[in-house]
Amino acid sequence: MKYTQFASLLVLPCLLALSSCDKKQPAEQSKAGTPQQTAAAEPDWCAEHGVPESICTRCNKKLIAEFKKKGDWCKEHDLPESQCILCNPELKEKFEAMKPKEGK
Ligand SMILES: [Zn+2]
Ligand SMILES: [Zn+2]
Repeated sequence: MKYTQFASLLVLPCLLALSSCDKKQPAEQSKAGTPQQTAAAEPDWCAEHGVPESICTRCNKKLIAEFKKKGDWCKEHDLPESQCILCNPELKEKFEAMKPKEGK
């Protein structure tokens, strides 16, 4: 009996806090969604693997399931087909073009 009263007392202020929080800190939410990504100032590029960091499955293993779900996966090379330069040599040029230039 007491517990339910206590719970409803807790829930109400929580909901109020949540809705006001929403407006104040939208950044907090996006951060939680992409924990691997850091400062926005950094270019989206993984120099180690030659692909944009945001789609680098070797740095962010969570992405693997997403690519597999889409059917974009090269089992042979353990890479998304859309990033597999070994199967698709023309991709090399594409990623080369995406690569941020060092020094202006
Ligand atoms: Zn990487
Ligand atoms: Zn391949």
